[in-house]
Amino acid sequence: MHILKCPNCKSYGLKESCACGSKRVRVRPAKYSPDDKYADYRRQAKKNVGNEDVQAKKTETPSTN
Ligand SMILES: [Zn+2]
Repeated sequence: MHILKCPNCKSYGLKESCACGSKRVRVRPAKYSPDDKYADYRRQAKKNVGNEDVQAKKTETPSTN
């Protein structure tokens, strides 16, 4: 089952022919929002890894006493 969207009146439907007379086209899920989400998540993950790395280095440093 494909959801079709009319580029003319922006109406959704399963029928290819829209009531406005235009032909509906297949709708593809917007890539922007999910990609952005993942990018943000990845950025945060990277940040966390970076912080962990810094902390690890700090703890790794032997105390010369
Ligand atoms: Zn239409």
